[in-house]
Amino acid sequence: MKKRIKKLWQLLDAAADGMLITSPENVRYLCGFSGTEGTILLTRQEGFFLTDGRYTTQAREQVRQLTVITFREKYRELGRLIRKLRIRNLGFEARHLTVAELQDLEKETMPMTLKPCTVVLDQLRMVKDASEIVLLRKAACIAAQSLQEVLPIIRPGVREMDVACEFEYCMKKNGGEGAAFQIIVASGYRAALPHGVASLKKIAAGEAVVIDYGTMYRGYASDETRTIFVGRPTARQKKIYHIVREAHDRAIAAVRPGKTLKMIDAAARGYIEKQGFKNYFNHGTGHGVGLAVHEPPRVSYLADGAVAAGMVITIEPGIYIPGWGGVRIEDTVVVRARGCEIITPGDKHLLSVA
Ligand code: ZN
Ligand code: ZN
Repeated sequence: MKKRIKKLWQLLDAAADGMLITSPENVRYLCGFSGTEGTILLTRQEGFFLTDGRYTTQAREQVRQLTVITFREKYRELGRLIRKLRIRNLGFEARHLTVAELQDLEKETMPMTLKPCTVVLDQLRMVKDASEIVLLRKAACIAAQSLQEVLPIIRPGVREMDVACEFEYCMKKNGGEGAAFQIIVASGYRAALPHGVASLKKIAAGEAVVIDYGTMYRGYASDETRTIFVGRPTARQKKIYHIVREAHDRAIAAVRPGKTLKMIDAAARGYIEKQGFKNYFNHGTGHGVGLAVHEPPRVSYLADGAVAAGMVITIEPGIYIPGWGGVRIEDTVVVRARGCEIITPGDKHLLSVA
């Protein structure tokens, strides 16, 4: 944890002499606290963790390197500390702090300067350390094992929602801490919705079912998608599946330190475009995964920057044809010195059930 706080100050450089951390993911990353009410106030010399009475005991157990303070009124206590520490320029998480919270903070801390920080905090968690990769891998294994347990119930007449419920149950039973996001089970025409969360629609014979699932494990998320056919796929379904699979494999082959996010996106997108489906792949190729299921970097034609060893990203191209359906294949990979390693263990051969 000390190392991580040091990394934050290196990234911040001279931009601020105090830093306020408020998002649960960054709080957990920097001090290990897993509850929902926690705020960190840092200077270069000192660190404080503020919480309310519900979490005093938990904070004493989990937060070892910061001084734990239980507050009655958060912003009053923060104002008192900030004055005592003589902080002049306080950085804050501009992507997380609400306008109302900022106003509360301003009331207590005037005339100090508040500095919105985004770029620094976007970078903070991008490169994972070995202990984080262990947890991400474990989360991915729990989810993949759960898919195997859910497959037998996918058959004509079963509702998408039933598949999603079974999935959540299996992931928890297998050691997960609950779904990392609302599980997507999108069958038939609904598979054309890239984010078609499970509905009451019944799965029918001949349909493709896009299942996008992930679990949390000790705070870390997994994210994986498989497309499964109910019965024998048609020639068109097969063709589109193989195009998406090839695009997915090409993007994965493109991942190595120094490759730009645009180039990785182009490896998948270029192939899909060449096959004539330019207008049917309408989202980015992937995103970072860690304490949050979607975090920087974005693997997209709009993104700047390159990948570095230790980053964990998804590769998830898809083709979505309104009225017909869709296919997506998603894996999560760790960027390694010479390429990448897939940590989502599931098979990607065309799979048909029932
Ligand atoms: Zn996903
Ligand atoms: Zn994803």
